Amino acid sequence: MEQKLVIGIDIGGTKIDAGIIDSSGKILKKTRIYTKAHEGLDAVVQRIYDAIELVAADSKASIRGIGIGAPGQVDVKNGIVIFAPNMGWKDVELRRLIHERYKLPVEIENDANCGALAEAKFGAGSGANSLIWITVGTGIGGGIIISGKLMQGAGFAGGEIGHMTIKEKGPVCGCGNKGCLEALAAGPAIIHQIRDKIIAGTQTSILKIVDDDLNKITVEIAAKAADMGDNLSHKELNRAGKYLGIGVANLANILNPEVIILGGGVMEVAGHHLLKIIKNTVQNRALSQARANLRIELARLGNDAGLIGASLLI
Ligand SMILES: [Zn+2]
Repeated sequence: MEQKLVIGIDIGGTKIDAGIIDSSGKILKKTRIYTKAHEGLDAVVQRIYDAIELVAADSKASIRGIGIGAPGQVDVKNGIVIFAPNMGWKDVELRRLIHERYKLPVEIENDANCGALAEAKFGAGSGANSLIWITVGTGIGGGIIISGKLMQGAGFAGGEIGHMTIKEKGPVCGCGNKGCLEALAAGPAIIHQIRDKIIAGTQTSILKIVDDDLNKITVEIAAKAADMGDNLSHKELNRAGKYLGIGVANLANILNPEVIILGGGVMEVAGHHLLKIIKNTVQNRALSQARANLRIELARLGNDAGLIGASLLI
């Protein structure tokens, strides 16, 4: 029997991944290109076409559809990216564009929701009926699946976990609000805090690692420094972990899921520090009934979650 394959596309502000994925979630072929969003919509769409044609070259006949994960708010019903600030996109009819060119079924969904679908089917949430997926990277995004169904929301803004207010008078967030989880615990927030403390005179072994260049500080470097006993890194990662834990405890209390999965670039490099603090915070803050059967786990699919989830849309 001929295999049925799907093209998955994960569009991000920096990179676009495209792949051929089989029904077991296995990526058979994959390519990655730089988004270069500043060059404008037409240039990015052309690059998406190029990526599709590159991965599909040998298996055109077996492809039954194209699933796309896009950043920002996505009107899944009409296939439109309503607003994606990091792409400079507003009301982009992406589904129509891709469908008209390839004459294949095309579905589009928010990228974090795609991650949730993938972890629910093939990753840390496999077998769970209700789960929450949180991705911590340059920003914080999320996807919520309740009773097996993705919660998209009345205005397609469901699962915007990063914009949960955690601290009333906290730092200003990209969304304009103050004290959002994203403004307190995403990668840039952690790096910003560390830099500020160094400028204020706190001693740290990070300076040696980055040759005194504060612009070279990354979360990965902070995690390594913390592993080697650096006090500042340890403290700042704990702080971010505590804020994440507060967010997770709120979600556990409201939605009482079976599993909450944390992934994304920050969790990949610093998850071993953060997960412990997150779990402790949830233990201290969430209702006992909300945490009794709750698993809090690191993502299993890594960077491919978005791509695999996009393929599940078909
Ligand atoms: Zn915000």
